[in-house]
Amino acid sequence: MTSQNLTASQQLFDRALAVTPGGVNSPVRAFGAVGGTPRFIDSAQGATLRDVDGNDYIDLIGSWGPMILGHAHPQVLAAVTEAAQKGFSFGTPSANEVALAEEIVARVEPVDEVRLVSSGTEATMSAIRLARGYTGRAKVVKFAGCYHGHVDALLAAAGSGLATFSLPDTPGVTGASAADTIVLPYNDPDALAAAFAEHGADIACVITEASPGNMGVVPPRDGFTQTIRSLTRQHGALMISDEVMTGFRVSAAGWYGYESATAGYPEGPADLFTFGKVMGGGFPAAAFGGRAEVMQHLAPAGPVYQAGTLSGNPVATAAGVTTLKLTTELDVYTHLERAADILRPAVSEALTAAGVPHRIQSANSMFSVFFTDQEVRSYDDARAQDSAAYGAFFTSMLASGIHLPPSAFEAWFLSLAHTDEVLERIIAALPAAASAAA
Ligand code: PLP
Repeated sequence: MTSQNLTASQQLFDRALAVTPGGVNSPVRAFGAVGGTPRFIDSAQGATLRDVDGNDYIDLIGSWGPMILGHAHPQVLAAVTEAAQKGFSFGTPSANEVALAEEIVARVEPVDEVRLVSSGTEATMSAIRLARGYTGRAKVVKFAGCYHGHVDALLAAAGSGLATFSLPDTPGVTGASAADTIVLPYNDPDALAAAFAEHGADIACVITEASPGNMGVVPPRDGFTQTIRSLTRQHGALMISDEVMTGFRVSAAGWYGYESATAGYPEGPADLFTFGKVMGGGFPAAAFGGRAEVMQHLAPAGPVYQAGTLSGNPVATAAGVTTLKLTTELDVYTHLERAADILRPAVSEALTAAGVPHRIQSANSMFSVFFTDQEVRSYDDARAQDSAAYGAFFTSMLASGIHLPPSAFEAWFLSLAHTDEVLERIIAALPAAASAAA
């Protein structure tokens, strides 16, 4: 094929492959698991992505979570423009970062103080350092299938891109940096109790996705979050609830707000929380926070060092605080729940009609579709699904102008811009995609 026959996306991908490993700057953007060329997006508005060839797609990736208001929301754009006109980065304290921290603290009751960072990876990495510094212990418990960013110690059985590309873990993480990580099956209270029985005095923290979304959506079974809480408390370890994906998405106070409304936290909430995605409104902003007594161990208040040139960036925090305020002003959570209530049964109906085994699992409005007829409670269950069927489903949806995540192990992200009319267009594409997956 000459370059004239190639689409603009294909031409860009060829150029990207020459200068960037795999042609992408984050592995999940590649189409390795579903086949085909990633679409290079030129612009996005509302629920629509427009690629460099001028094709429009209804977006169900939502930048992997942040775009809860849809793309380029006019009020966020105005806030960002105003902030940028005043300068891009000062390296000094500034007002927007205080406003964003106040908004988070006001929403998530157990969080007294937060430290802002630029990515979810930094948030979890720093929370773990703080937990180790606070407890004086080394070991970290994580669950298989939970992804907490590409922190060395947390990349074992990590879900997300590693699940997509069938990688158990990654070269480059030394035995020493993973030696203090204990990986346990998710939703298995007995395995957690056994780990504490053996290593209790050495465990600094248990980190868990508040409700996992990186092996597809696998919510905690009744009592599992509570078991983490009671065992950590019993053994003097900290509990870190990673709300990078669920935070400010599944309710105004994330999974904490949603689950505490239903199950409560009789033994208290997590000690530390991590946030990202929605709180940056599409810009690099993330955070970790918790009880003042723990957070006060961070420099310069305390001895545990953590820092960042662009942390609390004035433009990113303007986007974040405006986005968060709009989620409640515009009643986004009710909108997302309603949209999910329309889309989930439509997907199920189409797959059932085509005879495709499937299971839809939700963390309130956040959901994913597994191509299996078994309940998915763990990473092993998630990996037993028919990923090839998902690939066929994805490819058909893309041909119909609907851009799903190019992986069977991801949530489908809805936004305020997914109106009834947009949902109808998604639903119209489902029967063909379901047949393709059959
Ligand atoms: N934690 C969770 C639960 C995530 O879903 C992610 C990203 O997908 C991260 C941490 C890492 O965030 P980032 O990609 O901003 O480093």
